Amino acid sequence: MNAKGSGSLDALDLANRRVLMRVDFNVPQDDKGAITDDTRIRAALPTIQEVLKKGGKPILMTHLGRPKGVDEKLRLDPVAKRLGELLKQPVTKLGDSTGEATEKAAAAAKGVVLLENVRFNAGETKGDVELAKKYARFGDVFVNDAFGTSHRDESSVSGVARLLPSVAGRLLEKEIAAFGAVLENPKRPLVAILGGAKVSDKLLVIDNLLAKVDALIIGGGMAYTFLKAQGKPIGKSLCEDDRLDVCKAALAKAKEKKIEILLPVDHVVAEKFEATAKSKVVAEIPDGWMALDIGPKTRELFAATIKGAQTVVWNGPMGVFEMEAFRKGTETIGKAVAACSGLTVVGGGDSVAAVELLGLASKIKHISTGGGASLELLEGKALPGITSLALK
Ligand code: AMP
Repeated sequence: MNAKGSGSLDALDLANRRVLMRVDFNVPQDDKGAITDDTRIRAALPTIQEVLKKGGKPILMTHLGRPKGVDEKLRLDPVAKRLGELLKQPVTKLGDSTGEATEKAAAAAKGVVLLENVRFNAGETKGDVELAKKYARFGDVFVNDAFGTSHRDESSVSGVARLLPSVAGRLLEKEIAAFGAVLENPKRPLVAILGGAKVSDKLLVIDNLLAKVDALIIGGGMAYTFLKAQGKPIGKSLCEDDRLDVCKAALAKAKEKKIEILLPVDHVVAEKFEATAKSKVVAEIPDGWMALDIGPKTRELFAATIKGAQTVVWNGPMGVFEMEAFRKGTETIGKAVAACSGLTVVGGGDSVAAVELLGLASKIKHISTGGGASLELLEGKALPGITSLALK
């Protein structure tokens, strides 16, 4: 996984060229359509500003939400407005992303252009080639800066990249470099921390990481299927019984490779999955109780391993961090990652949300902008949005 073959913005002469750019402006909005978090728009600013500085004309496209056809609530006008405020210059928002009249309007407009939501177009998510050809007419060159959608083989992502000279934008480049530094020749020890609800979502990640890491920390809901696989009592904790064999196989593989898998040694258990449920710390989970966070000894154990790492990658919370009573584990591990002097990479929607909630974001070296895309990289997969890039 790298930007090989794709070159970078440095390789393109952008002066007076129409630079068609796929960005990920899939921002959260409230009921009235107001943007509640503009992180994704901000993340694309360096590339847009660089294109402008080099005399290119940025013509941006993105999806927003999951519309089935044209959906008035998912038009990009609020996004264009916010982008204009951040760039401190007007943004021309056009009414579609495929029409010939729109293509002319895009070429004639001054400054930055934003095309309408690409998911209004039938065939976009299926990677329709005819649709990609329509997009390609808007640009002389193509820049992919949408890491968050780069695991998708869609018309506006990989489809158009196959048709135009195409390179990675600065955000995509940064993501590729960060995950490359974790997955290819990392500074050791390399420690991976996995958490979150389900083992089944992370099976391929576990398998791929076991070939690379020095230690694998497993917390969160997914830890209890592993503990059950070791024959330990887990009470009413989350468990995927159909994954017990895979967990056993992963534990055996780790043992054979002399890779340490660290699992919780104590727990914060509750009687119910409720913020105010009665809770206590236990070394062994009693019948009728469920573990909703890692306990104090586990926090210490995990934090000590993180402290000694030169490279850390973290995906998934250690407990039900949304409820204050079960946040301590995620908080302690977040603080340990923040304090680690090595390369620290956090990916995945919930761990990023936790890091932000805890006010630790500025202390993490790289916070990924793509949940699904970062998981696929950790699974060892090549992303179509990256492999499709080439100067041609
Ligand atoms: P994921 O989307 O797989 O990363 O899972 C994140 C979710 O897992 C969060 O909403 C957490 O509340 C939840 N979670 C973490 N630990 C536990 C646990 N011990 N029991 C139940 N849910 C958990």
